Amino acid sequence: MAENKRDYYEVLGLQKGASAEDIKKAYRKLALKYHPDRNPDNKEAEEKFKEAAEAYEVLSDDDKRARYDQFGFAGVDPNYGAGQGGYGGGFGGFGDFGDLGDLFGSFFGGGAGRRNNANAPRRGENVGARLELTFEEAAFGCEKQVSAQRIENCSACSGSGSSDGAVETCSYCRGAGQVRTTQNFMGMQMQSTSVCPQCNGRGKIVKNPCTTCRGKGKVRRTQKVKIKIPAGVDHGQTVRVAGEGCVGTNGGPNGDLLVDILIKRHPIFSRQDYTVYCEVPISFAQAALGGEIQVPTLDGKVPYDLPEGTQTGAVFTLGGKGIPMGSSGRRGNQRFTVVVETPTKLTKEQKELLRQLEGGINQTPKRKKFFETLKDFFD
Ligand SMILES: [Zn+2]
Ligand SMILES: [Zn+2]
Repeated sequence: MAENKRDYYEVLGLQKGASAEDIKKAYRKLALKYHPDRNPDNKEAEEKFKEAAEAYEVLSDDDKRARYDQFGFAGVDPNYGAGQGGYGGGFGGFGDFGDLGDLFGSFFGGGAGRRNNANAPRRGENVGARLELTFEEAAFGCEKQVSAQRIENCSACSGSGSSDGAVETCSYCRGAGQVRTTQNFMGMQMQSTSVCPQCNGRGKIVKNPCTTCRGKGKVRRTQKVKIKIPAGVDHGQTVRVAGEGCVGTNGGPNGDLLVDILIKRHPIFSRQDYTVYCEVPISFAQAALGGEIQVPTLDGKVPYDLPEGTQTGAVFTLGGKGIPMGSSGRRGNQRFTVVVETPTKLTKEQKELLRQLEGGINQTPKRKKFFETLKDFFD
């Protein structure tokens, strides 16, 4: 799309140095000629109208015009070159039209399409909530209640907005739900349709409005919603509960409830995806001699046969003791790091024994290598 774009001056039939007055005049002429109200169901006219509007939006703004003059489309359209035509996707870019914005808004998708279809089914809005879980609840899944503030049908009037069921046709729009208005557009009288302000597009007026919802048919309520948290959910993930958001309009579907998951810190465990990590302190003697130690896991304590001569910082793996992977039945692993704790507050006798021990132990490979390297280094 972008590569087919015509130069903005060319679109308005002008030269680069055109005055602001010329730009305005040229645009007015084109807008009048291609206005959708004068060219109903004429795609080409609509395109031309949009093209002129886009050119005018840029060239009527000194700052944008300067950037366009210097850099071309890339100077005024952040999407340009990224494979998008900028304005092609919709009329989002027309926010800068100021007082003209309303007019454009009611001609094109952004306004008219939606507003003129006030009776069309619309999906309810999504609502958000937060839920804090323990490490174990997140790992194995759980059932919880969350408070969600959402819009529901008023139970007093079953969503009708009427206290007695009596409705009458809106006299303002005669039931059409929309009204035609004439607007002054740069000196031209132009007509456009907009939602009836009297009935908000419903075409009907409730005679005796429900006092609970003041005739709206809907109320905002904080509701407790029971939700199922799947096993293996992680911190920062969002659990979507379909249909538990705001109620839809005119029979449209409900929105969803989106629950952001927070996991409390665990005193022993941490996790990365489906792997559980922990540290296990062992004594100097256990490290040297090896033997059975107890390792905490999500399933309780598990015995582990530590090899003789285990170094501090050594990491061992317990297969299948990690976080469950959803409902697949599979689980991640647990990895634990042993940390040798140096004894403190030794008695005189114990210190003497250690000295005797130290004298009798051959130099260990790491220390031996270290001292050899040192010697080489200083020689
Ligand atoms: Zn009500
Ligand atoms: Zn009306």
